[in-house]
Amino acid sequence: MRKPIIAGNWKMHKTIAEATGLAAELAAAAAALDDVEVIVAPPFTALAGVVGALPADSALRVAAQNCYCEDKGAFTGEIAPSMLVDAGCSHVILGHSERRKIFGENDALINRKVHAALAAGLNVILCIGETLEEREQERMYDVLKTQVSEGLKGLAGEQLARVVIAYEPVWAIGTGRTATSDQAEEAHSFVRGLVGGLFGQSEAEAMRILYGGSVKPENIDGLMARENIDGALVGGASLQAEDFIRIMNFAR
Ligand code: PEP
Repeated sequence: MRKPIIAGNWKMHKTIAEATGLAAELAAAAAALDDVEVIVAPPFTALAGVVGALPADSALRVAAQNCYCEDKGAFTGEIAPSMLVDAGCSHVILGHSERRKIFGENDALINRKVHAALAAGLNVILCIGETLEEREQERMYDVLKTQVSEGLKGLAGEQLARVVIAYEPVWAIGTGRTATSDQAEEAHSFVRGLVGGLFGQSEAEAMRILYGGSVKPENIDGLMARENIDGALVGGASLQAEDFIRIMNFAR
C-alpha cells in the first residue's frame, strides 16, 4: 500500500509571518490525518521560521523548492542540500518545470541535484512532465522516458525509496487546465512502468507518483480515485488554508 502524499508548493509567495501562520494552521489539520503525508514547500527565507513554528512531532513536513548539487563553495546565490537539512527540511522539490524552463535546468543538472540531496539525507520530489507542444507532437512518452531515466540515473535501491515522482504536465501548471483523471492515470501508469523497467517491479510498486497541475478542491477526489495516482503536488490551491485542507481531506 502506498501512503498518499499531498504537497503544497508555495513558489515565490509569502513573507515569513504569512508562511509560519499558514503552516501552523495546516499542521493542526494534518495532525488529524494519519493516512496521508502532508508536505509544504515555503520559499527559502521562510523555511527555518516555518520549521521553528511547528511542534517537534508535527505531522506537517517541510520541503525546499530547489537546491544546488554541491555541498559548499563559491556558488553565489545557491543553497546546499545540507543547509536545507540544517534548516529542518525533510524534502526538496527538484526539476520543477519552472526551474527547467525559466532557469534552464537540464536533466543532467537535475540528476546531480538528486544525488546530492539524497546524499545529504533529504527525500526528493522529482518533477517531470511534457509541454503542450510535446504532447501535440506525440512526443510525450519520449519526454517522460528521458526525464525519468536521466533524472534517476545512477540511483541504488535504498536511494530510490526516498524519491517521489511528480508528474506535472506543463500545460496544466497554473493554467486552470487540469489533466483529466484518464490522462493523468495513463501517464502515471506509463511512468510506473518506466521505473519498473529501470529498477524492478517491487521498486515500481512502491514508488509514489503525484499528479500536479491545477489541482483544486473540485478535482482532487477524481484524481485520487485512480490506481496509479498516489497524491498531488499543488501550487495555487496550496496558498490558502481552506483549499489545501480540503485537498488533504480528499475522499477516501
Ligand atoms: C506546481 O507549481 O507544481 C503546480 C502544480 O501549480 P498549480 O497547482 O498552480 O498548477
